[in-house]
Amino acid sequence: MTSALKRWPPEQEIQHMKEAARDSLPVERRKQEGQIWGSMRRTGFILGSGLLMFVAFWNSVTWHLQRFWGASGYFWQAQWEKLFHAFEGKEWILFYLGATLIPTLCFWGFNALLLVVDTTGKPNFIARYRIQEGKNDPVDPGKLRQAVRLVLFNQLAISFPMVIALYPCLRWRGNPCRLELPTFHWFLLELTIFTLIEEVMFYYSHRLIHHPLLYKHIHKRHHEWTAPIGVVSLYAHPVEHVLSNMLPVILGPLVMNSHLSSITVWFSLALIVTTISHCGYHLPFLPSPEFHDYHHLKFNQCYGVLGVLDHLHGTDAAFKQTKAYERHVLLLNFTPLSESIPDSPKKKE
Ligand SMILES: [Zn+2]
Ligand SMILES: [Zn+2]
Repeated sequence: MTSALKRWPPEQEIQHMKEAARDSLPVERRKQEGQIWGSMRRTGFILGSGLLMFVAFWNSVTWHLQRFWGASGYFWQAQWEKLFHAFEGKEWILFYLGATLIPTLCFWGFNALLLVVDTTGKPNFIARYRIQEGKNDPVDPGKLRQAVRLVLFNQLAISFPMVIALYPCLRWRGNPCRLELPTFHWFLLELTIFTLIEEVMFYYSHRLIHHPLLYKHIHKRHHEWTAPIGVVSLYAHPVEHVLSNMLPVILGPLVMNSHLSSITVWFSLALIVTTISHCGYHLPFLPSPEFHDYHHLKFNQCYGVLGVLDHLHGTDAAFKQTKAYERHVLLLNFTPLSESIPDSPKKKE
């Protein structure tokens, strides 16, 4: 019985199979190599054409923007020259108007609109984009007054003196009120660098003030709002306001020896973006505030602005498991994301 089993398959058959396997091996390998080569070629083709399209797209976008900038650039250059000559010898006045007044007006103008929704719940078409359902509906007036008082204190007693001190530092580096405006490409490069500096400085200073020793004395203030609103973006302990709000934004222009025009746009943009990330509404066609809103809800996730450093340090691991993460996209239609991506039924119970 055993010998019969041993003999099956027969010797010749085994030999034949071995030979067949040997012959087919290179064929198999060739086939595999062919497949690998084919997929590499496909990947190369996709990547290559993708890159080509990106370069073509980027070039045409910047070309159009530059053309627009070039055409309107003369207009802005002429306006700037008028201001420059009107304030000749007193450029510091121009600097303080551009670096404090305009960004502050942007901040309060935008926040005034948001506060109408926070205090009245109207118009309803905005209120329906609220991220944390049922929160700040309407916002507590006492809590709001206290927040506005601290924000005004931070702006008047900290932001303004810091921007005043920034002027001699910029003068030491060069002249922020020089006659020639920066080119559009240079301005884009500056914005990229400002954003990267802010991401690094905000992330690490923010994680530092989350250390138990510092948290209760400093950062707890900002986290009193587990469901934030726009103005709360600057509701912070003065030490935090210097360390996490002001320095990360001020340092970029100092490094780049920027023109006042870049500084005005950057400060205004930074204030509008931080207001959006705290506003509590995920509105169409605006950057998603889900990331920082989740930070206020859970405290130990999502410390940065862009999310790059959170990804590298794994401080967004729990966030990535949530509905908030699924909703963390640029909303390109008018259906609120809480409707198109509803909470799972278990969560609602
Ligand atoms: Zn915050
Ligand atoms: Zn925090």
